[in-house]
Amino acid sequence: MRKKIVAGNWKMNTDLKEGMELAKAVEKLEQEKQSDALVIIAPPYTHLSRVNDLIDGVKLGAQNCASEESGAYTGEIAPDMLVSVGVEYVIIGHSERRSFYHEDDALLNKKTKIALSKGLKPIFCCGEVLEEREGGKLYDVIREQLSVGLAGLSKEDMSKIVIAYEPVWAIGTGVVATPDQAQEMHKFIRDLLVELFDKQVAEDMTILYGGSCKPSNASEIFANPDVDGGLIGGAALKAEDFLAIVNAY
Ligand code: PEP
Repeated sequence: MRKKIVAGNWKMNTDLKEGMELAKAVEKLEQEKQSDALVIIAPPYTHLSRVNDLIDGVKLGAQNCASEESGAYTGEIAPDMLVSVGVEYVIIGHSERRSFYHEDDALLNKKTKIALSKGLKPIFCCGEVLEEREGGKLYDVIREQLSVGLAGLSKEDMSKIVIAYEPVWAIGTGVVATPDQAQEMHKFIRDLLVELFDKQVAEDMTILYGGSCKPSNASEIFANPDVDGGLIGGAALKAEDFLAIVNAY
């Protein structure tokens, strides 16, 4: 049985006080949840250490990490630093990192490898932009992102990875993929994992959907056989909405 996960990506939102309040509220609701999904929150870097002291059932994630171990990389945060403040998961390759900070598949592959080598569990994101979908290139794009991004990983490495399919046109836009669109792509990703690794890796992989997921649409997306949870942006900033999404499982 693969793990079900609902992860909240807070992006560049909340100051420390607001973040701590949100984390406390999420932790409280998580303890009352009616779902066996694992709940992860990924606050901004500045909040991680303090938030870690407030959570127990909820797991801690970071939104990014450096591709290098340590040294003269001003402004970067190394995987070891994340581990030292209690981080277990790290989002790698979010579309905002790919588009605003020009992170390419080769760099994301490097980040994934270093994160794994330090004991972090990557949540590796992929997704096509609208023109790629409309131009019929969506499957080629996902194939490229995953085959380069996950290149050189062992089956053991893959057992620590979570994949998030996030169609870029659905992120923060209010336009959610239809349940059929989500299922189609998740199935494609699972089949691709058979090709790139093997059947076991594919079967065991948790594949999350991300893009305008809300309490009102989560259950129909999660009902798909190849959707194993969600990566949630906007709706993760309200504890009640976030946990309503968790409970939609
Ligand atoms: C995200 O940024 O990963 C995301 C899914 O955002 P939203 O839920 O706001 O679309």
